Amino acid sequence: MKEVKVRKIKNGTVIDHIVAGQALNVLRIIGIAREYPRTTVTVAMNVPSGKMGTKDIVKVEGKELKEDEVDKISLISQNATINIIRDYEVVEKKKVKMPSLLEGVLVCANPNCITHFENIKSKFIVEKETPIKLRCIYCERVMKEEDIVKQF
Ligand SMILES: [Zn+2]
Repeated sequence: MKEVKVRKIKNGTVIDHIVAGQALNVLRIIGIAREYPRTTVTVAMNVPSGKMGTKDIVKVEGKELKEDEVDKISLISQNATINIIRDYEVVEKKKVKMPSLLEGVLVCANPNCITHFENIKSKFIVEKETPIKLRCIYCERVMKEEDIVKQF
């Protein structure tokens, strides 16, 4: 099998070990089209991977991911790794970690939830990681992956 060779980036972030098929959701989380229309992004999908079978990889030049972006990626790809690159070297390598409580990151899917009417931050408890299941602490509405990815 041929190995995929992607050129090294000078500065930015490499998101590796993304669940195959989730690369486009990762791009939406980072807001590539909206916020960084001129950023060079390399996407590799269904790359053979020893551990995972296949995986997706996203390389974003000139941008280091923010914490809330990493939290969102953890919701759809629990084993993703984030590599921060500076001057062609990996200066930081971390695994995403799903937080036990998500604050202000998502909007409750229940239109009658108090978070839509009062000025309070949404809060969700992670009830289950795979497949993802979140519960709103105010109205108890459960959100699954399809409810979550709609918001990216
Ligand atoms: Zn709610």
